[in-house]
Amino acid sequence: MDKTQKVELLRIAGRQIGFDFPMSQHTTLRVGGNAESVYEASDPDGLSGVVSFLVKEEIPYLVAGKGSNLLVRDGGIGGVVILLAGAFADIQFEGSDYPDILAGAGLSIADLLIWCREKGLSGLEFLAGIPGSVGGAVAMNAGAFGKETGPRVREIRLVSQRGQLTARDRSRLRFSYRDSNLEPGVVITNVLFRLDRDAPKTVSARIAGCLKRRKETQPLEYPSAGSIFKNPLNDYAGRLIEQAGLKGKRIGGAMISNKHANFIVNKAGATAMDILTLIDLAREEVRRTAGVQLELEVQIVGGAEKP
Ligand SMILES: Cc1cc2nc3c(=O)[nH]c(=O)nc-3n(C[C@H](O)[C@H](O)[C@H](O)COP(=O)(O)OP(=O)(O)OC[C@H]3O[C@@H](n4cnc5c(N)ncnc54)[C@H](O)[C@@H]3O)c2cc1C
Repeated sequence: MDKTQKVELLRIAGRQIGFDFPMSQHTTLRVGGNAESVYEASDPDGLSGVVSFLVKEEIPYLVAGKGSNLLVRDGGIGGVVILLAGAFADIQFEGSDYPDILAGAGLSIADLLIWCREKGLSGLEFLAGIPGSVGGAVAMNAGAFGKETGPRVREIRLVSQRGQLTARDRSRLRFSYRDSNLEPGVVITNVLFRLDRDAPKTVSARIAGCLKRRKETQPLEYPSAGSIFKNPLNDYAGRLIEQAGLKGKRIGGAMISNKHANFIVNKAGATAMDILTLIDLAREEVRRTAGVQLELEVQIVGGAEKP
């Protein structure tokens, strides 16, 4: 971004724009360099105006949810990182089709589930313990315990790659394993979910059950991005990494978890490079020992050098 573009961005977005923002503070792995600029969007019209400007000026941008599936390289991210706050964290019943709910894309999964539990709404309990946002869960088609987010989505409201506020209904959405057919540059603003009624006590018990299972199997005491690799067909990435003898392997401040080999944890002061080196090692060793090419689930963003 040149100086004129920065001044214009400040004019359009005012105090919602910041510069040189440490992405380690906005990712669950707690590593990575700074974002050249961060825009904290609080309403759809403002967001639409900023995206239109960025597209016109060909300034790259990335929308980040809670940063729980992002590995930001040590050089940081050029352009603008868009975060969703304000009205994007709202949640309400939609129309007369109770129990359909409209959730802001910036709402955390934890807050979404607290609301669902209070209102006696079932269908998304399997997401309990995933430290992401509603937008991130839909973009990634987050899933656990054999269930995925996609089947519960009726409609997505969004800002298009041209900066227009629009909506996309179920018939135009495709979800696959940790992926959706949303084009890069699209910003989800709200999601309409179709849920079921159930007793708050039952919903609460299901959420507690999911949290318990996670605690037993995942190294939640350290920063991580959850599973680093997707599970290959009919197998588990964690099992293959363990079989390759890499459990507990440490490089710098990063380590392949002893508890769950598909998690790389930040034990103390890891850099993105430490984690990237472990990723390469795990891929190479699994390919050598099992003949399987692991595919990344975590998204690597930014550059090795400062923009
Ligand atoms: C301890 C731990 C456990 C986890 N367990 C699971 C699990 O069981 N299942 C699972 O699926 N994942 C799991 N994850 C990974 C992660 O939490 C999910 O992928 C989550 O859905 C990411 O949401 P986020 O808001 O953090 O998105 P981010 O990590 O910020 O972004 C991920 C992607 O979504 C896009 N995105 C985010 N918000 C929007 C938006 N509003 N509009 C358009 N695109 C958007 C980003 O551009 C990026 O491409 C785990 C992570 C951790 C740290």
